[in-house]
Amino acid sequence: MRILVSNDDGIYSPGIVALAEVASGFGEVRIVAPDVEQSSTGHAITANRPLSYRRTPVKDFEAYRVNGTPADCVALGVHLWEGADLVLSGINLGSNLGSAIWHSGTLAAAKQAALLGLRGIAFSTPVDEQEPEFEKLQPHVEEVLRLLIQDSSAQLLNVNIPLNPRGIRWTRQSLRQYDGKMVLDKDPMGREHFWFTVVPSRQADEETDRWALEKGWISITPLRLDLTNDRELEKVGGASAI
Ligand code: MN
Repeated sequence: MRILVSNDDGIYSPGIVALAEVASGFGEVRIVAPDVEQSSTGHAITANRPLSYRRTPVKDFEAYRVNGTPADCVALGVHLWEGADLVLSGINLGSNLGSAIWHSGTLAAAKQAALLGLRGIAFSTPVDEQEPEFEKLQPHVEEVLRLLIQDSSAQLLNVNIPLNPRGIRWTRQSLRQYDGKMVLDKDPMGREHFWFTVVPSRQADEETDRWALEKGWISITPLRLDLTNDRELEKVGGASAI
């Protein structure tokens, strides 16, 4: 198996090394990741300037940094590496749950794989002031990867792993609350500015990704690319012309 590893935290993030190390137990690994952090860039692609890549030492891995977004990295990585069959993204420093996954570059890398007909799996872990303990997360990443490779055919998956998890839960995306919020602040000159940031959500619905993380479970959410609202489409009588 050829496994392409990417992320949105940039090629120098400790999370990508941790993921690549686990992935190397499952197949041949190549890292293709952004040269600088691209968190919250979602599924943007670079269409108005050329992309280039440079070989970059990341432990003993064959690794390349790209002057682009996570989606660019996966598209270029797959283009240059014939036979790649699985794309892993992460491990992101920060969870990707609920509506936040719309903004997530981590998930976008996995999504780009699915758009290209490959399998994409995004891995994230919550962070506080401390850097995540990746050595402790790695056995859980390995367990999830084994489960997904052996027992699941889902093409696009969003995985969030808390530290010291109780076990694994299959979940759905939490949509009860949107956690993005504008927060007013002032610069040193007293002028107003804003942070578009994430505030903690409360009361997640049961069996959702957010609920699972709150309860200390690993959350695996199978996702799909089709955004069509089937109920609305049925209501108007299918795809007929007006
Ligand atoms: Mn990130």
